[in-house]
Amino acid sequence: MGAAGKGGAAPCIFCSIARHEAPSRIVYEDENTIAFLDIAPLSRGHTLVVPKAHVDRLTDLPPDQYAPLLSTLARVCRRVERLSTHYNVGLNQGALAGQIVFHLHFHVIPRYEGQRTFPRVRKEITEEDGRSVHGLLRAD
Ligand code: 5GP
Ligand code: ZN
Repeated sequence: MGAAGKGGAAPCIFCSIARHEAPSRIVYEDENTIAFLDIAPLSRGHTLVVPKAHVDRLTDLPPDQYAPLLSTLARVCRRVERLSTHYNVGLNQGALAGQIVFHLHFHVIPRYEGQRTFPRVRKEITEEDGRSVHGLLRAD
């Protein structure tokens, strides 16, 4: 775990979520990984899949974390298929690629009928719908 993960000079929001210090709608969690709903979703059910160990980049991830992370990613994809069998899995790596949170995370972004291009506008999600999507995705 790097300095940011220890809540030092540069506290990391995803480390805080992984430690349950910051609130989030967690859909799955195990010893090595956590998945939660994006706070500003690009589509209904937009979920982030995150290793608990603080690393910025996939290339920094210890190889023994590859399998746990891919396993959680697949699990989340299976659950997202409850909403739509069409989705994008994404990794923004580096600021020029759109990375804002410098703690490795995969996006799982469901796609729906009528959405012809990749969504760029963050959707307002009501409290009620947030609860409903959370309930659907967190169930085993
Ligand atoms: P990036 O552009 O770094 O790949 O994506 C970061 C994502 O994290 C964005 O989609 C953003 O909406 C989401 N995000 C940022 N802060 C928070 C937060 O505090 N909670 C949750 N649940 N998502 C966050
Ligand atoms: Zn972190």
